[in-house]
Amino acid sequence: MMKGRIEVTQGDITRLHVDAIVNAANNTLLGGGGVDGAIHRAAGPALLEECRTLNGCATGEAKITRGYNLPAKWVIHTVGPVWRGGGNREDELLANCYRNSLSLAEKYDIKTIAFPAISTGVYRFPVERAAEIAVREIKNFLERNTVIEKVTLVCFGEASYQKHLAVLEKFINQ
Ligand code: ADP
Repeated sequence: MMKGRIEVTQGDITRLHVDAIVNAANNTLLGGGGVDGAIHRAAGPALLEECRTLNGCATGEAKITRGYNLPAKWVIHTVGPVWRGGGNREDELLANCYRNSLSLAEKYDIKTIAFPAISTGVYRFPVERAAEIAVREIKNFLERNTVIEKVTLVCFGEASYQKHLAVLEKFINQ
C-alpha cells in the first residue's frame, strides 16, 4: 500500500530495484543472520570486504557501502537496539536508526530507499511498537526533505506486513 511517499510491502528486500536498501546489521558490520545474512549472500563477498574497512558501527548509527551484486546501488548499514524490556533507550535508539539512515541517504542523493523492520527479528523489538517508530520517523523526515521520492518498508511475512499496514493507516489518517 502506498500513502504519499511511504509504502509498505511484503517480500525479500534483497530483490528490490531501489537506490538503497537498509541493512539491519550488528555492531561488527561483519555479517550475521536474518536480513543481514540475506543481503551479504545476494551482494557477494565484495560487500564484506568493504564492511571490514568501516570499523563497525554503534547502535543507532548508520554507515554506507556500495551494493555490489544487489540491484540496489547502495547499502546503508544500521544497527538496531536489542530489546531488553523497553527501559534501556530502545525506542530512542531505534528512532536514531531511521533518522541517521535517512540523513545518509539525503547526503548521497538517494531518491528511493527500502528499510526492513529493524530490530524486530533476532533483536526481539515488539513489531507494532517498532512500526510506530519507523512510520513516525520516516514521516517526520519526509516533511522536511524533498529529495527522497519514496521510502518502502519491507516486511517479511504476513503478520509483520499487516501490523505495519495498520500503523501506516493510523498515521496517515490522524
Ligand atoms: P534484527 O537483529 O535487527 O532483529 P533480523 O534480520 O533478525 O534483524 O530481523 C529484522 C527483520 O527483517 C525481521 O522482521 C525479519 O523477519 C526481517 N527479514 C529477514 N530476512 C529478510 C529479507 N530477506 N528481506 C526483508 N526482511 C527480512
